[in-house]
Amino acid sequence: MKIWIKDPLAVFVGEHEQPPKRGILIEDGVICELLYAEPDQFDATMDASNLVVLPGLINTHHHFYQTLTRSVRSAINRPLFPWLEALYPIWAHLREEDIRLSTELAAAELLLSGCTTAVDHHYIVSQEVPDPFSIQVETAHSTGIRAIICRGSMSLSQKDGGLPPDSVVQLDDDVLQESEAFIRKWHDPKPGAMTQVALAPCSPFSVSKQLMLDTANLARREQVLLHTHLAETEDENTFCLTRYGQRPLDYLEEVDWLRATTWLAHGIHFDQAEIERLGRAGLGVSHCPTSNMILGSGLCPVSDLEKAGVRIGLGVDGSASADSSNMMQEVRQALLLQRLHAPPEAITPERALTWATKGGAALIHRDDIGAIAIGRQADLAFFSLDELRFSGAEDPLSALVLSGAYRAKHVMVAGDWLVTDYQLTRLDEHALRNAHNEAAKRLLSRAFC
Ligand SMILES: [Zn+2]
Repeated sequence: MKIWIKDPLAVFVGEHEQPPKRGILIEDGVICELLYAEPDQFDATMDASNLVVLPGLINTHHHFYQTLTRSVRSAINRPLFPWLEALYPIWAHLREEDIRLSTELAAAELLLSGCTTAVDHHYIVSQEVPDPFSIQVETAHSTGIRAIICRGSMSLSQKDGGLPPDSVVQLDDDVLQESEAFIRKWHDPKPGAMTQVALAPCSPFSVSKQLMLDTANLARREQVLLHTHLAETEDENTFCLTRYGQRPLDYLEEVDWLRATTWLAHGIHFDQAEIERLGRAGLGVSHCPTSNMILGSGLCPVSDLEKAGVRIGLGVDGSASADSSNMMQEVRQALLLQRLHAPPEAITPERALTWATKGGAALIHRDDIGAIAIGRQADLAFFSLDELRFSGAEDPLSALVLSGAYRAKHVMVAGDWLVTDYQLTRLDEHALRNAHNEAAKRLLSRAFC
C-alpha cells in the first residue's frame, strides 16, 4: 500500500536540502520516494497542504518514572544534589504499576509533542521492583513509540561516599549479570528496530568506578551503546576532584568510556581542552536545556562542542527536573538558550530541528530514523499552524520553533498512525491521566507516611 503525503505546506529534510514540494511516498512503513512531481502510482493520499511535516523527533535523554514526582514541594527551587537528595527517598517507594503508568504517560506526552523515538534512562532498582526495565520495554512497545531503554544502575550509596540512599543501589555483580540478561532478551540490532538496549550507570556520584569499567567491557562485548550523566554541575566536578582526585572527563577516560559508542547527558562543565578530547573520541552529548535551566546547572556550550566534532542531540530529561516531556518545546528552548552562547545566524530554527532529528539519530547510532529520506522509517510528525500563535507567520517551518508549537496534529511511527487529529490512537488520554495522577498521590503518601 503506497500512501502519498500530498503537497505539504513545508517539509523539513535538512538544513541545506531542497524540500520535496509534492510530498512524500510511503510504502510498508518506509519512505520510498521524495516527490518533486506527482507520483506515477499510489493507493491512498493524505492532504498535507495545511501541515508542516517533520521527521519524528528523537528524545535522547529522559527518566520516565519522574513524571510521578513533578513539582514536589521539598525538591523544587533546589540545585541538582539537594534536589536528588529530596527525591531519592520518594523514588525508593516506586511499584511495578508506577513503572507501567509513568512509561505510558511519558510515551503519550512525547508522541503528542511530535516525538517518535524515546530514550529512557531508568536507574532505580529496589526490592519492590527488581526488573523495572522489562516492564518499560513491554509498556513502551504497547504504546507504539520506538524505544531505547537504558539499563541504568546505581551502586555507590551514602555509606560508601555516594549520594543515593542504600535502599536504591545494587551490588556491582548483580547489575552486570542482569544487564547481560536484559540485552540478550530485548536488544534488537536490526534496522527498523522498535526496541534497543543501552547500558547506563547513572553518574560518577552514584556508581563505583569498577562498575563503570566492567559496564564498558560488557557493552563492547555485547555491541551496545553506553550512556551516563556527566559534567552536569560544578558540584559534580567538586565531587570527582575530592573523591577521585580528577575531573569528570579524566574519570571517564580512566574507566574506558571515551569512545564513539558513548553519549553523555548534559556535558556542560568541560573546558576547551576537554571539549577537543571529546570531539576526537567522537562522543555524543544530549543537550537538555529546560532541565539545565530549571536546576540552574549551567549552559552547555553546544556550538563549541559541535565545532570540535561532538555529536549533539536533545533531551527533555526527567520530568521532575524539566517538569514536562515535550520535545517540540525542547527544540525551542535549545534555540533560545543557545542564542545566549552563539549568534542568531549560527543557531537557526533549522539547526535546532537538526539536533532533535538527525542529531539525535547520530547519538544513538541509528541511520534508519531521524530524517525524511528514501529508505528511512516512516516516522513523521505533522503540525498545523491553525492557531492564534502562528497567525501572520511568513515562514511556516521557522514559525513552529519561534512561535512555540507544542502539540502535533498527526504522528506516524513506522507507517502506523499513533496520533490523529491531536488524539492518541492507542491510549485513552483522559483515563491515563487520572490513573497516573492517582499513582503519583499514592507514591507520595507511601514515602511520607
Ligand atoms: Zn537525567
